[in-house]
Amino acid sequence: MKLHEYQSKNIFAKYNIPIPRGRIAASASEARQLCEELGGKVVVKAQVLVGGRGKAGGIRLVKSPEEAEEVTTQILSMRIKDLPVRKVLVDEAISISKEIYLGITNDRAKQRPVLIASSSGGVDIEEIAVSSPNQIAKLHIDPLLGMRDYQIRDIALNINLPRKLWRPFGEIIYALWKIYVDCDAQLAEINPLVITTDNRLVALDAKNVLDENGLFRHADLADLRDIDGEEWAETQGRKFGVSFVKLDGQIGCMVNGAGLAMATMDIIKHLGGEPANFLDIGGGASSEKVAAAMRLILADPNVKAILINVFGGITRCDEVARGLIAACDEVKPNVPIVARLVGTNEEIAKQILEGSAMVYADSLVEGAQKAVELVREYRS
Ligand code: GDP
Ligand code: MN
Repeated sequence: MKLHEYQSKNIFAKYNIPIPRGRIAASASEARQLCEELGGKVVVKAQVLVGGRGKAGGIRLVKSPEEAEEVTTQILSMRIKDLPVRKVLVDEAISISKEIYLGITNDRAKQRPVLIASSSGGVDIEEIAVSSPNQIAKLHIDPLLGMRDYQIRDIALNINLPRKLWRPFGEIIYALWKIYVDCDAQLAEINPLVITTDNRLVALDAKNVLDENGLFRHADLADLRDIDGEEWAETQGRKFGVSFVKLDGQIGCMVNGAGLAMATMDIIKHLGGEPANFLDIGGGASSEKVAAAMRLILADPNVKAILINVFGGITRCDEVARGLIAACDEVKPNVPIVARLVGTNEEIAKQILEGSAMVYADSLVEGAQKAVELVREYRS
């Protein structure tokens, strides 16, 4: 679950990470008043749950309350990457001498958290990773030992941080690590952490992504969820109890079980295709759930074929087949569908699907092959 910048900054403040003075506003007149209170020079920042707001015009430096009002009106009428802007954060303007990147996330390959720092902050860390990988310092953190002082000195040295700032830098890193652990975060990021012209470190931006699986033990954090502000696919998926992750390929996948979903994607790739998504419909499969999953898949214009792969254990294949027929009646998919349903009641499922436009496959490899071929035919 992504948190808004202002929500993340509230958490930062609790852990004593220095942030600019500022408050949230939902209207232009509120922003005008806040600007006045903050001394006239402020930054108006769109609160949306996507990155790159700066580039999209959602971050504006203003020099008077009138300008704050005007700019807020503009920003509140914007959509950034298709998400509406409902609130802005009005922060006192900070004069910057240098922008640094600081973030903690999980390194799955190394099976431990990693702290990433760079002296070229402010822009996307992915861009720095491509254009100047030598400007990125990484440090793996032992989850039991936590962050060690010598590691922090190492990082500070690595990014050429002025020695005078090492102590506050260390305090910020410790706090970020504590936030990462305490909140069950997947990402705790400050981009940019700035050195001000009067030589202080201030977190100008804040981003926390929380692990959904840990939310049950953080009722206060779970309450921060902004349903309106989340991407449609995420909200839909949660509402119907399906796990959905969008990818860039052409074959939409509908599978029961996370492991089987991964295996399905592997087979598709192995046979030369590209999956359009990861989708686990979970156990049972009512027609509403199947229809919801199908709508999610079809919302992606890249999808040129759908592969349904269901292993019927407790889930009955005939129930899924009926769900599929009902879902197709409702959603009217305009791409071919390959279905592989094996296990409990597969014979009945086969009969149910016989009259339909769906292509039946007896094995996963056969199904994946058919889906890959259908995409190739579409292209030629
Ligand atoms: P993002 O584009 O969504 O990551 O939004 P950020 O909060 O990171 O802001 C983008 C950029 O705007 C920063 O890297 C800064 O260069 C600039 N910026 C943000 N706040 C201030 C400020 O108070 N003063 C100045 N001079 N620039 C700012
Ligand atoms: Mn940023």
